[in-house]
Amino acid sequence: MKAVCIEKPWSVHVKEVERVEPNYEESVIKVHAAGICGSDLGAFRGTNNIVSYPRIIGHEIAGEVISVGTKNPNNIKVGDRVVIDPYTYCGHCYPCSLGKTNCCRNIKVRGVHIDGGMSEYFTHYTDMLIKIPEGLEWERAALAEPLTIALHAIHRLKLQKGEHIVVFGAGTIGLLVAMASLAYEAIPIIVDIVDERLDLARSLGVPYTINPKRDNTEQKVVEFTNGAYAECACEASGASPSIRSSFDVVCHAGRVAFTGYPKGETTLPTDIITKKELDVLGTRNSKGCFQEALELIASRKVDVEKIITKVVPVDEAPETLKDIEKNPGNYLKVVVKF
Ligand SMILES: [Zn+2]
Ligand SMILES: [Zn+2]
Repeated sequence: MKAVCIEKPWSVHVKEVERVEPNYEESVIKVHAAGICGSDLGAFRGTNNIVSYPRIIGHEIAGEVISVGTKNPNNIKVGDRVVIDPYTYCGHCYPCSLGKTNCCRNIKVRGVHIDGGMSEYFTHYTDMLIKIPEGLEWERAALAEPLTIALHAIHRLKLQKGEHIVVFGAGTIGLLVAMASLAYEAIPIIVDIVDERLDLARSLGVPYTINPKRDNTEQKVVEFTNGAYAECACEASGASPSIRSSFDVVCHAGRVAFTGYPKGETTLPTDIITKKELDVLGTRNSKGCFQEALELIASRKVDVEKIITKVVPVDEAPETLKDIEKNPGNYLKVVVKF
C-alpha cells in the first residue's frame, strides 16, 4: 500500500509498504482522508524531538472499517465510517488512573511516536474508533481531531456562555478555539500579527481582532470588554510575547490555558498570577472530545470547511508538505484524499 513516510528530517516520500496485520484488539480502516498537521511539519523539519524515524505521519484520519478484531466494546462493524482517536495510552500510570489518558506518561501518538495513518490502509485499536455522522464528508470528518484539541482547551477553561476569551494565534488551532467558543456562545477576541488571518477570523464570525504590531493588546481588550478584561485566555501561538500578554488580558480570578508550544524557555510573571489569583492551565491533546467535535462539524456549528485551504491526492502530499514548510502563511488545513 502507499504511505506518506518521513525517512529522516527533510526527506518525505510516498512509499510502498506492507499493510500492518491487525491483532484481536484492532481493526483495519481503508483511509479516505488525512489532515496535515503542524506536528507533521515538525516531524519533517526534525524539530519535534519525540518523533523517531522513519515515520509514517498522519493522526487526523477518517476512513471506512474493512475488518474488526474480536475485542470490540463499541460494536464497530465492517462498513462503518469512522475517525480515529490517535492518542494511545498505557492505562496504568498516574494520569491514566485519573482518566487523563491525554497526558499518559507512556503516551504513544499515532504519526509521532508510532506510525500514523497517512496511508491507504491503517490498523488501529477498535475501541479508539469513533463513528461519524451520516452524510458527513471525509474531508470535514478529518478535521475532528484538531477540533478536539480546541475543545479540550475550552473544557479545561470551563468556558461559559457570555464570557470573553482572548485567543492568541490565528492558525488552525487558534481559529478552531475561536469557532468553538462561538458555538459555546462565548465572545472570542483573536490576536495575530498577520492581517489576512484576522480578516479570515472576522469572516468566521469572530467579533473582535487585534494586531499587536499596530495596537496595544491589553488596551484593546479593555476597550472590547468595557474595562472588565477577559475571563479567559487561550495561548495557541507559542510566541513569547503572546505568552506574556495572556496574563495581562485576563481579569482577576481569570483562567489562562496554554496549548501552543514555545520554542524555548519562557519567563512567567508569577506576581500577576498571584495578584489576580489566576488559574493557569496546560492543555494537551484531547480526552473524550471526538463525539462532540463530530456533532459540531456535522451541524456546521463549527464550519471547518472554511479553514480547509486545499485537498490534495496522496501522490502530491510530499510536495505539498514541502511547500507548507516554505510558505506556512499560505496554508491553514490541508487534507490528503485517498
Ligand atoms: Zn493534529
Ligand atoms: Zn498511562
